[in-house]
Amino acid sequence: MVLVLKERKEPGELKLLRMLKARGGLVDDSRFWNLEKGYEGEVVFDKWFSRMDGEWIVVNDLLLEHAGSLFQIDSLVIGVDRVYLFEVKNFEGDFLLEQYRWYSGSKEIKDPLLQMQRCEAALRQLLRSLGYQLPIESNLIFINPEFNLYNCPPKLPIVFCSQLNRFSNKLVRQSGGSARLSARHSRLAEKLCDLHLEKSPYERLPEYRYEKLLKGIVCVGCGGMGVRYERKMIICNECNFKEEYKASVIRSITELMILFPEKPLTSKIIFEWCNGLVTLRSIQRILINNFSLEGFGRSSHYIKF
Ligand SMILES: [Zn+2]
Repeated sequence: MVLVLKERKEPGELKLLRMLKARGGLVDDSRFWNLEKGYEGEVVFDKWFSRMDGEWIVVNDLLLEHAGSLFQIDSLVIGVDRVYLFEVKNFEGDFLLEQYRWYSGSKEIKDPLLQMQRCEAALRQLLRSLGYQLPIESNLIFINPEFNLYNCPPKLPIVFCSQLNRFSNKLVRQSGGSARLSARHSRLAEKLCDLHLEKSPYERLPEYRYEKLLKGIVCVGCGGMGVRYERKMIICNECNFKEEYKASVIRSITELMILFPEKPLTSKIIFEWCNGLVTLRSIQRILINNFSLEGFGRSSHYIKF
């Protein structure tokens, strides 16, 4: 049985970048696509691992600190006799490995194995400090079937998509089939969850300004902004996605609060943020019913219940 102690969530930074992208707030969207692709790959990996035979505790997406340095683990799995560290990459296309240097086309990229080894070393020290001597096995998983690495020596701890079935057989064999996890394994997993650090999603964001962002309502279906109001519904002109207007407005208010936490919530600002798609009166009603009013007179504004 695979017990997932810490579920993977969509990264906060990715959510924020998506909001900015929809409103024309990203000049360079490469970070967005990298995060989106990376997350997609990790989700595929999670699904694959969830079908594994034997006993496992999975702790996803850990940000840990040891001896003053931070390290991130895509997927940590506790097995009976060892801890597995999985670094998942969703690279696509032809890559080349030449004398420890990695290339995508002619562009050199960061060595993912080196990253993984550093992570493993830090994790080993951390486990020791917690009183665990379990061996660590690290694997770099290339989850995308369209990925190819030229010149890859077979001895490297790399698993390609085409090898996943055989790799899962190996894991099951290694775990000794019917061997059981103990309370000590569970305690380690819980300890690691406790040590997980939450990173602020705002840290790496590019600069953005309210005035520069497109105003309107973003379609949930396609992420576009070509929507219209029709009989209490917000309807997308591109993908025809329909949503009850109250839900659209509440979502837009939440977006505004996340992107501009310091902005006071007033019906006027939200009317402007939604680009007048919904009447001021409706917005007032939504605010009264879903948020609470703070302050008096001119300085009054709404906050979350
Ligand atoms: Zn749409």
